[in-house]
Amino acid sequence: MRVSPPGVVECPQCGEYTLPHRVCPNCGYYKDREVISPEEE
Ligand SMILES: [Zn+2]
Repeated sequence: MRVSPPGVVECPQCGEYTLPHRVCPNCGYYKDREVISPEEE
């Protein structure tokens, strides 16, 4: 059982720690939807 550091949540998409209620900076997902496209140029 992993314990997240306080103040962060684990991204369900990539498992990266990110701030709650924020788009994941790693994969661009927020909750279960893609909010931004990281590879978009
Ligand atoms: Zn992510």
